[in-house]
Amino acid sequence: KKITIAIDGFSSTGKSTIAKEIAKSLGYVYVDTGAMYRAVTLFAMNSGMVSPELTNSLGLIKLLPQVKLQFKFNEEKGAADMYLNDINVEDKIRTLEVSNLVSVVAAIPEVRYKLVEQQREMGKEKGIVMDGRDIGTVVFPDAELKLFMTASAEVRAERRYKELTEKGEAVDFDAVLSNIQQRDHIDSTREDSPLVKAEDAVEIDNSYMSREEQFARILSLVHI
Ligand code: C5P
Repeated sequence: KKITIAIDGFSSTGKSTIAKEIAKSLGYVYVDTGAMYRAVTLFAMNSGMVSPELTNSLGLIKLLPQVKLQFKFNEEKGAADMYLNDINVEDKIRTLEVSNLVSVVAAIPEVRYKLVEQQREMGKEKGIVMDGRDIGTVVFPDAELKLFMTASAEVRAERRYKELTEKGEAVDFDAVLSNIQQRDHIDSTREDSPLVKAEDAVEIDNSYMSREEQFARILSLVHI
C-alpha cells in the first residue's frame, strides 16, 4: 500500500537528497517544495517586488495570479526541474542571492496559501515523498510517515558551501553559514506555519550519519 511521506527540517540538512533516493527506491513521486518558494522568490526579484533593500509584499500578492509553477521530469538527470511561467529556472533558483531572499517571501501568508494548495493537489494520490518546512504540520497533517531532519549549522554550512563551490559560485564560508542561520531564524519564528517538528514526526539528526545509514533508517520506518 502506497503512503505519503512528509520530510521537514532546517536548511541544508540533506532532506532533498535523501527524499529523492527514497522516492526512487519506492517508485514514488518526489516533490521539492523549497523549489516552489524559490521560484516565487525569483519571480518577485524579476518583477522588482523583492530585493536586499526592499520587500513589497502587497505588490507581489497582486502579481501572484501570474505565477505558474510546474515540475517537469528531466530524463537526463532523472529528477524534476522547476519551471516558472514555462521557463526552466532550476539553476537560477539555487543561487545564494535567491537563498538570501526566499525566507522573506515564504513568510508572506498569501504566497504560502497558493503553494500549499498546489502541493495538496499534487499529493492527492498516495506514493509521494514531499520535503519542505511545513509538510507534516500543515500540508499533510495525516501523512503516514513524518520525518524531521536536523544537523548542526556548521555541518550544514559545510555541505552547502561545497555544493555552491562545486557549481562554480564564488562564495565564502561565513556568508553561507550566516545565510543558513538567518534562514533558520526566519523560518522558525515566522507567524504563518513556522518550522516546527510535528508531534508525531521521527527526528533524524544526520550530522554524523552517512547517506547509506540515513537511507536504511528511513526505509525501515517505511516498512513498519
Ligand atoms: O528547502 P529549501 O532550502 O530549498 O527551501 C528554501 C526556503 O523556502 C526555506 O528556507 C523556507 O524559507 C522556504 N520554505 C518554506 N516552506 C516549505 C519549503 C520551503 O517556507 N515547505
